[in-house]
Amino acid sequence: MIRGMTTFSATILRRAGLWTGLLVGCVQWTLATTATAATVEAARVHVAPDHTRLVFDLSEPAVHRVFQLASPPRVVVDLDRSALDLDLDQVQLDGTAIRGMRSGVQDRRDLRIVLDLNAPVRPRSFLLKPNERYGDRLVIDLFTTTWESEPIKRAEEYLRERRPVVVAVDAGHGGEDPGALGPGHVREKDVVLSIARKLHQRLQREPGFHPVLIRTGDYYLALRKRTELAREAGADLFISLHADSFRHASARGGSVYILSSQGASSESARWLAQSENQADLVGGVDLEGKESVVAQVLLDLYVTSTLQQSHDVAATLLQGLGRVTRLHKRQVEKAQFVVLKSPDIPSLLVETGFISNPQEAAQLASARHQERLAGAIADAVIEYYRASPPPGTWLAWQRASESVGLKHQIAQGDTLSGIASKYQVSVHAIRELNGLSSDRIRIGQVLQIPTS
Ligand SMILES: [Zn+2]
Repeated sequence: MIRGMTTFSATILRRAGLWTGLLVGCVQWTLATTATAATVEAARVHVAPDHTRLVFDLSEPAVHRVFQLASPPRVVVDLDRSALDLDLDQVQLDGTAIRGMRSGVQDRRDLRIVLDLNAPVRPRSFLLKPNERYGDRLVIDLFTTTWESEPIKRAEEYLRERRPVVVAVDAGHGGEDPGALGPGHVREKDVVLSIARKLHQRLQREPGFHPVLIRTGDYYLALRKRTELAREAGADLFISLHADSFRHASARGGSVYILSSQGASSESARWLAQSENQADLVGGVDLEGKESVVAQVLLDLYVTSTLQQSHDVAATLLQGLGRVTRLHKRQVEKAQFVVLKSPDIPSLLVETGFISNPQEAAQLASARHQERLAGAIADAVIEYYRASPPPGTWLAWQRASESVGLKHQIAQGDTLSGIASKYQVSVHAIRELNGLSSDRIRIGQVLQIPTS
């Protein structure tokens, strides 16, 4: 990181070509309710696959403008009647789109912060209102033009036969939205990301499954963006991971939710749906796209067909969860969560426990318990899809072969190539059907023999 200057006069800024430089970004004006002097007190940076989010903590809302300048690429942030009470050099910028930050004073009262960038970006900015953790904030999103997350396979790639079952694993919240906060600084966003990673690892080891991690780090994703990423990946199932919170510390236990067809099935479910959905208000994103009446009718049709499947997976999952943790309710809950509103993908929301309960908060923060939860969720998903594999999947193909019932038990001296030639099938076909990653076999092992 290049160290920026902490103070910067208007003359130097003018000489640097800020006034004559080419204006490439759009100018954004945001009017705050009050126009008194604000102080920039702290700054944080969150890195998402497609953007860097820079957050300034403000003592109060401020009128601001953000614009971009080319060669060298930089973004200029002007805050009216504001002052800086922060060492910009201390802000951690490694791995972000920002190379360095410097500040200056404009017209003796306005603050200008210049972000020197590694490459051109698309900037977007908005103010966030105070929440239980932070006060007023100015958020600047710097969108990169390339998406650098793990390569997500497109649905078309799976159109060929024997595709894996694609499971979208979504860790709720992230970045500026910490989710529920528990005793001992346990944060929902960290706990669920950790469980999501463990679940992803488990499913990755399982033949016939392809897990996709929707949120890969500590950044915020709009709820609609999460389901969009799942759809792009061709997901068969969408699992959103959360941890509950309630005003009474005694509330405890895990729950599994699916989308309700009418409305929330209980008052507490409605309360929860409200607080989980508020995440998108935190992200400052308008989530309700305008839907025509026709689209709504089609959506309802799809929803009813995927709801049954969601319910069946959820019931299996609730059972599995009950083996590793206490349950809040014995049946699958229903609520109107935005993340569950994919018309075409069976979707579940898992509340892994109550982070507001001191005992469960400590459990949720422990790697051992996270591993147990991830294992239980993975086992349930595997159990469900083995029993009801979607058509065209490797699991469906394996099941069909199984029902024909040609099996071979490994005896002393057997080799995979020997067995292959005996049954006149390829080694590759045997390996594929049995999910073998190498040619190693052991005595007593029973192999399915492909029949076509
Ligand atoms: Zn949550």
